[in-house]
Amino acid sequence: MALALTEEQQILQSTAREFIAANAPVTHLRGLRDGKDATGFSRDLWAEMAKLGWAGLIEDEANGGSALGFGELAVLFEECGRKLAPSPFLASVVLAGGCVRAGAPAELRNPILSGVARGETLLALALDEGATFAPYAVTAKAEKSGDGWVLTGEKTFVLDGHVADRLVVVARTSGSSGDRDGLTLFLVDAPAKGLTITRTTMVDNRNAATVKLDGVAAEVVLGTVDQGADVLDPVLDRATAVFCAEMLGLMTEAFEHTIEYLKTREQFGVKIGTFQGLKHRAAAMFAELELSRSVVRETVSAIDDDGPDVPTLVCVAKARCSDAVSLIAREMLQMHGGIGMTDEADIGFYLKRARVQELTFGDASYHRDRFATLQGY
Ligand SMILES: Cc1cc2nc3c(=O)[nH]c(=O)nc-3n(C[C@H](O)[C@H](O)[C@H](O)COP(=O)(O)OP(=O)(O)OC[C@H]3O[C@@H](n4cnc5c(N)ncnc54)[C@H](O)[C@@H]3O)c2cc1C
Repeated sequence: MALALTEEQQILQSTAREFIAANAPVTHLRGLRDGKDATGFSRDLWAEMAKLGWAGLIEDEANGGSALGFGELAVLFEECGRKLAPSPFLASVVLAGGCVRAGAPAELRNPILSGVARGETLLALALDEGATFAPYAVTAKAEKSGDGWVLTGEKTFVLDGHVADRLVVVARTSGSSGDRDGLTLFLVDAPAKGLTITRTTMVDNRNAATVKLDGVAAEVVLGTVDQGADVLDPVLDRATAVFCAEMLGLMTEAFEHTIEYLKTREQFGVKIGTFQGLKHRAAAMFAELELSRSVVRETVSAIDDDGPDVPTLVCVAKARCSDAVSLIAREMLQMHGGIGMTDEADIGFYLKRARVQELTFGDASYHRDRFATLQGY
């Protein structure tokens, strides 16, 4: 297990930090929000990121990628998290891209993934159907029609679904809602007949679409019929791990900002950071941050080593990061004496993003419960 970054990862980190500071500071997100941007992220910026090799980081060299690992991917997600940089990275490369990588027939997989690696093709995963993360609670139906399949149902919170060229749709081919068996993954062309995609904007100004499927013809099955969870589960674990790295980036930045404020803001003629009441709170945040960093690094290392304990580590990482990001974002607001409540201050953006992060891919309770189940309780 590697808890420290390798030399190559440190170089990647400093290049990414410099690039994001120059191109996607928080004012970038603010500008997209204020301008009611139809895409919700900058396609030009995503093209630049792809040129730097980010979109193809974990892709095979044959498909134009650099075949690096999740350790490197996590470094980039952490840097994006620090400045709340919006992009289709998670949806396209890790989530739907992961399903295509694991389940598509070679003649489709290679052209699609090389398009993703170039930043030209955008993908999204249509999984959830309710208000909370429940990957097996699928009622959307797939029925045989001639040689193909026809999909019916409704999906919620499809990250960046409004701009996707293709969707990976999880539908039920047997069993009932809540069953792990009976799920099948389908690739669907975004302009397909019967498909309605409605963009919604979340509290953190990021995109999550509602997708209606009214007799939509699927292009192809990814993986095996009824056994879609075998493809889906590892993809969700890997996506959750890098998402935790993004959360780590947010909490690191929030913590550093807050410490800086405690060292600068004066009350009663002294810096407020000299008060024991605030020092103790800062120390508690620091401990949460360091524990989160350790478990995130351990999780991405286990993914790269193909370790057997990836699912349990993902549960530990997400439960810890959900708790820590919530604590640190709330403390940031409180210790700034409430200025984060004003729209002018960037710190409110951190609190809003933290609230969404806490819940995405399951909150701390979800992952504690899943951890207990995986341990046989
Ligand atoms: C738009 C807006 C609306 C608000 N509405 C409300 C409201 O309806 N109700 C409400 O209760 N508040 C509200 N607040 C928050 C409140 O007005 C102040 O933010 C709060 O009183 C903190 O005071 P301050 O700004 O002087 O912070 P600062 O003095 O800068 O303090 C910053 C941090 O240091 C801490 N601190 C300061 N001195 C000490 C000390 N001696 N010992 C230990 N810790 C210390 C503070 O508790 C705080 O965590 C609002 C704030 C804003 C911006």
